[in-house]
Amino acid sequence: AKKQRLDKVLAHLGYGSRKEINRLCKGGLVTVDGEVIKSSSTHVDTENSIIKVGDEEINYREFVYLMMNKPDGVISATEDSRHQTVVDLIDAEYRSFDVFPVGRLDIDTEGFLLLTNDGKLAHRLLSPKKHVPKTYYAHVEGKVTETDIEAFKRGVTLDDGYETKPGELTILKSDTVSEIKLTIYEGKFHQVKRMFEAVDKKVVYLKRISMGNLKLDENLELGEYRELTEAELEILV
Ligand code: URA
Repeated sequence: AKKQRLDKVLAHLGYGSRKEINRLCKGGLVTVDGEVIKSSSTHVDTENSIIKVGDEEINYREFVYLMMNKPDGVISATEDSRHQTVVDLIDAEYRSFDVFPVGRLDIDTEGFLLLTNDGKLAHRLLSPKKHVPKTYYAHVEGKVTETDIEAFKRGVTLDDGYETKPGELTILKSDTVSEIKLTIYEGKFHQVKRMFEAVDKKVVYLKRISMGNLKLDENLELGEYRELTEAELEILV
């Protein structure tokens, strides 16, 4: 079994600095399989033993997977000197896992953002070869029509000459400001906004509602997040 230093494990889970954890141990608050462990440098089997801090059993794992409803005004990065980042919205309990956003949403885009420390999963989801579908809901200035559906189905030419792959456009409401859903299978910079620019229309509100068959949990308020369930993780991988 894999053994790790107790202080390292607890620090990783957000129980404080090594010094603080040393104090918890000295104070007799930490038990492993019911036995008080006073030395925080003790190596423990994280997979097979029950580790408690006070009455609380720790929930050890290597990876975490969080679904966030990203709000407007927040950058999907881990650090930024001027703006709040999505990682700033995450509690210490999860931040200590060094989670990062899987892919990017623009600062003004809302909705589904996955955060994890699982680099392999992130890589797989972002790989252009995998064609992971991403569905967006948007408000678009100008009447979106059948012609746009056909254009997106063929692929449109972006401002830099890039020909997009086919996207599936659904019109929810065609008006001076239209409401649409768009599914794309790639992720170029500002892709949805630029696809509409290619047909002379302007996205004025954008929200990602799903990624790779996983839907945004509608109970999540803007800025809120929760762990993926086992079932959701299976859908994703
Ligand atoms: N397309 C965009 O234009 N912006 C996003 O944030 C995501 C997709």
